[in-house]
Amino acid sequence: MLQHNKFTQYRCGNIEMPSPSWQSLNRKIVRCDRCPRLREHGTQIAVEKRKAYRDWTYWGKPVPNLGDPQARLLVVGLAPAAHGANRTGRMFTGDRSGDWLFRAMYRAGFANQATAIDRDDGLRLIDGAITAACHCAPPANKPTREEVANCRQWLDETVDLLPVVVFLALGQIGWRSVVGLVRHRGWLTQKKTPKFAHGATAELSEGRWLLGSYHPSQQNTFTGRLTEPMLDDVMATARRLIGQ
Ligand code: SF4
Repeated sequence: MLQHNKFTQYRCGNIEMPSPSWQSLNRKIVRCDRCPRLREHGTQIAVEKRKAYRDWTYWGKPVPNLGDPQARLLVVGLAPAAHGANRTGRMFTGDRSGDWLFRAMYRAGFANQATAIDRDDGLRLIDGAITAACHCAPPANKPTREEVANCRQWLDETVDLLPVVVFLALGQIGWRSVVGLVRHRGWLTQKKTPKFAHGATAELSEGRWLLGSYHPSQQNTFTGRLTEPMLDDVMATARRLIGQ
């Protein structure tokens, strides 16, 4: 018999399971083929592979949402990395950006462990979920505006399912996607479009917040534009806003 559970929604016997609606949304995302350029790219990368991962069976498909189906923190990234999530099939798993993100989420109490290697590594998010503006790996990490717009339906449906209090946008594209969504829903409380900056916050209606962070891409972390204390500060702000 299925029973409600705060973090995983349902328990079937002794097995914790994501809610049926969360699973069904993820199944729809994985089957999506609205962007031929991205689907071809992901498949091609999965065939060519990086030398270091030649023994892997790459995922090579749209990457589903990750996390707690009751999450109040929704992290919105850019898109799966070609040899990261496009390889492992789990958001931010298997690349350096993810190493930074999961370490910070762990330190802030939003994850049960600091590492994310593959889909079976025991990682569990706590009151947190991760999605992306674009669920397929784009060439040069740059989805077109049209591709991001194609993917907006999945962000909408994700937000329909979660009791989000804080949207944490990693980078400009994630920020713009969330701003588009909250404007469409009438959740913006200010007339001016909120501007992206690291640590920027925008109050939304009904106790929700939008919070910005530089993306933990190597471009930002290698150059020192984003440091671990800066990411910790953002996570602490998210924690504080959720607790208000
Ligand atoms: S990017 Fe989004 S809309 Fe485009 S094919 Fe992938 S999942 Fe579908």
